[in-house]
Amino acid sequence: MSKVLVVLETAGNGVRSTSLPGITCGQQIAKATGGELHLLVLGADPAGAAQAVAAAGYGAKAVHVMASPALEPFTAEAWADAIVHAARTLGATHVGGTATSSLRDALPRAAALLDAPLCPEAVAVKSGDTFTRPVSAGRALLDLKVKGTPIFFTARGTEFEAPAAGAAAPVAAMAAPALNNLGVQVLSIQKTESARPALTEARVIVSGGRGMGSGANFAHLEKLTDALGGALGASRAATDAGMVPADLQVGQTGKIVAPELYIAVAISGAIQHLAGMKGSKVIVAINKDAEAPIFQLADYGLVAKWEDTIPRLTQLVSAHRSA
Ligand SMILES: Cc1cc2nc3c(=O)[nH]c(=O)nc-3n(C[C@H](O)[C@H](O)[C@H](O)COP(=O)(O)OP(=O)(O)OC[C@H]3O[C@@H](n4cnc5c(N)ncnc54)[C@H](O)[C@@H]3O)c2cc1C
Repeated sequence: MSKVLVVLETAGNGVRSTSLPGITCGQQIAKATGGELHLLVLGADPAGAAQAVAAAGYGAKAVHVMASPALEPFTAEAWADAIVHAARTLGATHVGGTATSSLRDALPRAAALLDAPLCPEAVAVKSGDTFTRPVSAGRALLDLKVKGTPIFFTARGTEFEAPAAGAAAPVAAMAAPALNNLGVQVLSIQKTESARPALTEARVIVSGGRGMGSGANFAHLEKLTDALGGALGASRAATDAGMVPADLQVGQTGKIVAPELYIAVAISGAIQHLAGMKGSKVIVAINKDAEAPIFQLADYGLVAKWEDTIPRLTQLVSAHRSA
């Protein structure tokens, strides 16, 4: 019988919402193979988070919890070692999770340690060994069949809905071995403090491109972002030019997002940018060039300069909100 092990990331005493699509992908693999779903919670003291996951159940046979001080702060090396240990202990046939920046780093390492195959960024499950994934910056989809055990996967977060909670699942403690972090040590962490939601979790994103002209001009987009209660994003041209920090970059080599509303301001719509946001439910483009490729994807387009539209739009949104 197949055993599908999905690795979760937690925040405080719960699972991160970004981990939920990985569970759905795991559920689909378990269903396709007639197997069991198992969840894995890792951390220095993840008992509370594991309880919260177990209460929601998600159709899992068990929620495995492995505690070790070596697992926090996150290093891909220690996590990969822990995942390998859990996969072996459980006899997992499939191991994966959402393609977050952490698991994109840890899961391929774990696959390499086990000399096992990996399907990265799956967007659909065709069967227990065949997955669909985008290639060429999303220009094409590829069905990838992999051979070996266990099969590793990462699931693209924007392509799998969050799973519904189900009957509670039991928590099973798994003893942590001495984890090998290959000598890697986290010396310091500089957190970006922001009152705004994380880009990958926001329901509304306002993104600016090179056409914003300067970092100072992004203050106009920040006002609109805050009026909408959203997150600020940017194109790579804007981050490369130093207008805004690199962690705001949306696209093939930045964050993959799928908010309910994505407002692209002064962004031309290069394929690499679209690769990161085309899954958004409603796309609004504001660009002074009527020929800009972003208009081909946008649900609503406004051919205008941002200077003439953003302050007025912000005013209207703020007035509507406070009405
Ligand atoms: C391997 C690789 C990976 C990449 N990864 C990414 C990625 O992850 N994310 C990403 O974004 N890009 C990525 N890029 C870069 C990508 O190809 C584009 O260069 C980039 O997206 C362009 O950003 P932009 O639309 O802001 O700038 P531009 O293409 O220069 O467009 C600026 C737009 O602003 C408009 N504009 C100018 N002034 C105004 C105004 N006053 N009001 C309204 N509109 C105005 C213009 O009409 C124009 O359409 C990648 C490229 C490569 C080769």
